[in-house]
Amino acid sequence: MGCRPEAVGKIIIAYSLPEGTVKHDRSSEIFQRARRLIPGGVNSPVRAFRAVGMEPIVIGRGAGAHVWDADGNQYIDYLGSWGPLLLGHCHPEVIDAVRAALDRGTSFGAPTEQEVDLAQLIREAFPSMEKVRLVNSGTEATMSAIRVARGFTGRTIVVKFEGCYHGHVDALLVKAGSGVATLSLPDTAGIPEDVTRHTIALPFNDTDALRDAFQRRGGEAACAIVEPVVGNMGCVPPAPGFLEELRRLTQQAAAVLIFDEVMTGFRLDYGGVQRLTGIVPDMTTLGKVIGGGLPVGAYGGRADIMAQVAPEGPVYQAGTLSGNPLAVAAGIAMLKVLGRDPGLYTRLDRLTEQLAGRLLEEAGRAGVPVTLNRRGSMFTVFFTPRPVTDYASAKTSDTAAFGAFFRAMLEAGVYLPPSQFEAAFVSTAHTDADVEATVRASRGAFEAVAHK
Ligand SMILES: *Cc1c(COP(=O)(O)O)cnc(C)c1O
Repeated sequence: MGCRPEAVGKIIIAYSLPEGTVKHDRSSEIFQRARRLIPGGVNSPVRAFRAVGMEPIVIGRGAGAHVWDADGNQYIDYLGSWGPLLLGHCHPEVIDAVRAALDRGTSFGAPTEQEVDLAQLIREAFPSMEKVRLVNSGTEATMSAIRVARGFTGRTIVVKFEGCYHGHVDALLVKAGSGVATLSLPDTAGIPEDVTRHTIALPFNDTDALRDAFQRRGGEAACAIVEPVVGNMGCVPPAPGFLEELRRLTQQAAAVLIFDEVMTGFRLDYGGVQRLTGIVPDMTTLGKVIGGGLPVGAYGGRADIMAQVAPEGPVYQAGTLSGNPLAVAAGIAMLKVLGRDPGLYTRLDRLTEQLAGRLLEEAGRAGVPVTLNRRGSMFTVFFTPRPVTDYASAKTSDTAAFGAFFRAMLEAGVYLPPSQFEAAFVSTAHTDADVEATVRASRGAFEAVAHK
């Protein structure tokens, strides 16, 4: 059947159905087969829906702001493939670009003009990325950026922030410990302490802890890496002054400041958080949106730092499929659509603001205490009455309440990210009618939480 954006039909939202009414027989059947072949039945852990206490639904297709599961049920999609689909599913220009690229060949392992075009579009949007290297995922981008920062500075220590996720890079999968300079333990099996003991994890938004850490260990720091607006503990914006202080301290310590804008780049603004705040990092990592739904990542930064990268410099980093023609074609088409529409980010912001405001009203009406964090088209409904400013406060959320909310929303035709600690994404394909239907669905869902 393929991608047919014009196939978006009327949205029928059965928001008052009791849980369990919608059938997921095909999904269930496919998932049982998956579990015998793939660990946990999924190719990325959070897809398994374990945090929301149910089996995942298996997706058949998407168009615009909607997806259909294997049983044919329709959902308003706020997952957006975890961020890339800023234009929704199957945007015609992205699809056409990929089709055209397909006819020219899928991979060459040699330079192409299109990868230069994408690098140029990225640099124009992110002037701090004087040179750009394309890779295949956000994980590859952050892993490579850290290697380059270590090569450039000749130092070892990496400073990160609790609750920030930078992909499954060994050195960055570190348990959020509050001790500033204490030995950090790996968050997962399979990573030697030798690797993570060079990582310092600090609480996000804690300027005092930051100053203290840099006073003690700043001279050993190769880099600090941060999500400048966090999406990966749910949406948590930076407190006023926090990023400024991080910029000041890294500069003073001659450590490389890396903005991990894999999620925020081209999502919150065409030039990312660095354009919105005016805070200029030394290096930036990108992914998600720049691939238009295909696998692309990028890292880049100051020309003197990027001069370390092979073959110009001694830091090795490579990829058989890096700059892949299909992925690059999708990325270029995506950025062109975003770049030519000056009102796009304002419209997204307004629509998401409207949705967020209405969701808060519904929570209030049902008497469910929530905190709603939002920046642009990213938002999270935290099931906690207290402000969420860091990982510790995010963890005060009632995850069982989130699970009940998630399941009721799914049942009513709204597909949210299946964990409390994720951001939901609005796309340009979402309409006022989608918002209206989502708000109606949330009425029953918040009531379901209240009556638990
Ligand atoms: C998603 C994400 C990554 C990892 O990207 P993958 O493409 O999943 O490897 C890294 N950093 C941030 C901020 C992300 O949101």
